[in-house]
Amino acid sequence: MAGGPGSRRNASGPSRADWARPRKARVRRIRDRLREMYGRPLNLPHRMPIDELVRTILSQATSDLNRDRAYERLSGGFDDWAEVRDAPVEEIERAIRPGGLSNQKAPRIKAVLRAIGEDMDLDWLETADRDQAIEFLTALPGVGRKTAACVQVFTWDRPEIPVDVHVYRIGGRLGLFRPNASFEEAHDEMIGLVDPCDSYEFHMNLIRHGRELCRPTPKCGACGLRRMCPVGRER
Ligand code: SF4
Repeated sequence: MAGGPGSRRNASGPSRADWARPRKARVRRIRDRLREMYGRPLNLPHRMPIDELVRTILSQATSDLNRDRAYERLSGGFDDWAEVRDAPVEEIERAIRPGGLSNQKAPRIKAVLRAIGEDMDLDWLETADRDQAIEFLTALPGVGRKTAACVQVFTWDRPEIPVDVHVYRIGGRLGLFRPNASFEEAHDEMIGLVDPCDSYEFHMNLIRHGRELCRPTPKCGACGLRRMCPVGRER
């Protein structure tokens, strides 16, 4: 209904009624503007998928610093991931305590390691069909699309865009996916919009933008994307 509350733009971005899937040319302009602001980050894939899975679990609801402290204590305190898998959950919890929520993360890590299989081998995912890889990873206990995408992009530089709170907030404001889209839908839209060779750069620069300017209360006056952003134009 024209003029109704659903048709107005707000700090979240375009309304559902206004939204149209953006053209790839617009997405490339956003990429270029972010590149001018933050540079072009280089991905250095480490080819350690289990490490990435564990790090992503540890990263929930904590800072990068505390995640890294928990990860170092866990990986340094056990000989290998099989030893972590077989350890009492209390031992894992003690090791990862600096990362917070250790009582939730320890059983999750143990459950994921157990579900990987006796051989503890995920190297086959590097060359697996993308859908098959995502299906396998998201079938692991407590692993969602974001974690699966992190494993793909940081382990092997496979084209994925993990949609975390920053990417979701900015993507919504820029109208890259439908307002109030599920995280699942946002992942599908983003991967369809961004050129595969740009996915790591796009992801990293959106996160940086979300931390620096496009915060929950955005600093649109200082933002290089303002003229191509529905929220920025209105503010
Ligand atoms: S103009 Fe920039 S800071 Fe403001 S909402 Fe848009 S992207 Fe975020």
